[in-house]
Amino acid sequence: MSRPRIVIVGAGFAGYRAARVLSRLTRHKADVTLLNPTDYFLYLPLLPQVAAGILEPRRVTVSLTGTLPDVRLVLGEADAVDLDGNTVRYTGPEGDSGTLPYDRLILAAGSVNKLLPIPGVAEHAHGFRGLPEALYLRDHVTRQMELAASDPESRSTRCTFVVVGAGYTGTEVAAQGKLFTDSQVRGRPLRPRWLLLDIAERVLPELDEKLSRTADRVLRQRGVEVRMGTSVKEATHRGVLLTDGEFVDTRTLVWCVGVRPDPLAESLELPLEKGRLLVDPYLQVPGRPGLFAAGDAAAVPDLEKPGAYTPMTAQHAWRQGKAVAHNVAASLGLGERRVYRHRDLGFVVDLGGVKAAANPLGIPLSGVAAGAVTRGYHLAALPGNRVRVAADWLLDAVLPRQAVQLGLVRSWSVPLDTASPELARVPHGDGGSGPADSVQDADAAAHPEPPGPVRQSDLPEGHEPPPSSDAPAVHKRRPDDLAHPVPAKPASPEGDS
Ligand SMILES: Cc1cc2nc3c(=O)[nH]c(=O)nc-3n(C[C@H](O)[C@H](O)[C@H](O)COP(=O)(O)OP(=O)(O)OC[C@H]3O[C@@H](n4cnc5c(N)ncnc54)[C@H](O)[C@@H]3O)c2cc1C
Repeated sequence: MSRPRIVIVGAGFAGYRAARVLSRLTRHKADVTLLNPTDYFLYLPLLPQVAAGILEPRRVTVSLTGTLPDVRLVLGEADAVDLDGNTVRYTGPEGDSGTLPYDRLILAAGSVNKLLPIPGVAEHAHGFRGLPEALYLRDHVTRQMELAASDPESRSTRCTFVVVGAGYTGTEVAAQGKLFTDSQVRGRPLRPRWLLLDIAERVLPELDEKLSRTADRVLRQRGVEVRMGTSVKEATHRGVLLTDGEFVDTRTLVWCVGVRPDPLAESLELPLEKGRLLVDPYLQVPGRPGLFAAGDAAAVPDLEKPGAYTPMTAQHAWRQGKAVAHNVAASLGLGERRVYRHRDLGFVVDLGGVKAAANPLGIPLSGVAAGAVTRGYHLAALPGNRVRVAADWLLDAVLPRQAVQLGLVRSWSVPLDTASPELARVPHGDGGSGPADSVQDADAAAHPEPPGPVRQSDLPEGHEPPPSSDAPAVHKRRPDDLAHPVPAKPASPEGDS
């Protein structure tokens, strides 16, 4: 008899863990296939450190084939699931398509940047949900500092950085970003200014108040302008108009207002809770015996807080990955199924340097103690690369930060509105080969099909942005992309927001 086929869509916290546990539980009694657009698991909580030049990007990635030898990796993104035919249709990295039949399916596609209908934001802001965006931000910030040093007229505009959203992502990006730009001043007449905005009353609104106070204090001491109760009313190529009426001249708007479930969940046309696929406490979709879901894309009942669903955190996704693996194995006659129940073990927020805010097991910590716990936690939680990460931290403690911009990820290749934040857009959408991949090519300006909003700073000196095109080439388009096309209209010649 042929072996049952288990397909996992998404190799993030939930999917990676599910694959790892399933390959142990099934011990060659089932075929486990992992469908993911990249060949690595991405440790998202350390992404702000990549943007701030502390960690090299590969440090926060863990090879899937290297760590999951008994799991078959299929590179690609699921486009559609045929729930009656038990197949997943996907598009591969070079535009090829394929179909994966399954007996059990685990949907663990995570989440994407959340958008709000604020004029100009989709065109001028960048999100922070994937490695390309972190690389873009690192380069962009470095470039602004370099350009500011040689141009007194645009100096204050270029040295102003606006982060919207004071959750853990925005708070870490602003805290780390300020240290990063301060390290680049080097006796030059530059005064980096960072603003952190949120409509909430306090930073880290979703976390314990003590963490919030610690983070607020560290940010202010560092010189970050913490503006709570304030957001963006409009974004333009010159800067942002705040809801309190102030206009801030800037070339940098980082959008960290939160995430929404991956649109794949919605495409299944099954019951949802705020875009997340509703599952029962066994992480199974009611009425669909072969279908399971976990992580950000799933609305999992929180048995510790009746009536609520577990929050979108790595902590839950990682543990749900294990639980769903057990329940899938149990559905194949291997072991017992179990409900998902998990109490929060606390949170850690790395504020850069030796500072952090943490409450492990509910004990509030700040300063160096919190810093040590935070880094220790990340090292323990990383499924690989621990020595490399620790080595980068050590080097960062004793050497000056490396501030060079490679310019490999440009503004247009990381639009805010995308269903695939883990992939940078490439010209032609062919995923990787051909001369047009070199996005810094001088020819890019003359390219007949600009791949998205092209900013003047993406172009070689003296070139004008190309005329707008109707349909930017995307690596892959899901219904969501079509519903919210990234504006192809070129931004103003000045704007690399
Ligand atoms: C910058 C940042 C910092 C964070 N810090 C923390 C933190 O400190 N603590 C914490 O608890 N949480 C943190 N989070 C949240 C946490 O990372 C998420 O809750 C967690 O990653 C969710 O896990 P997941 O497995 O559901 O999704 P992900 O880890 O996002 O994985 C989803 C996977 O699915 C893949 N995928 C997407 N669409 C498809 C498709 N159509 N087909 C195939 N594959 C697909 C993606 O490429 C990805 O590999 C942070 C998030 C961010 C963005």
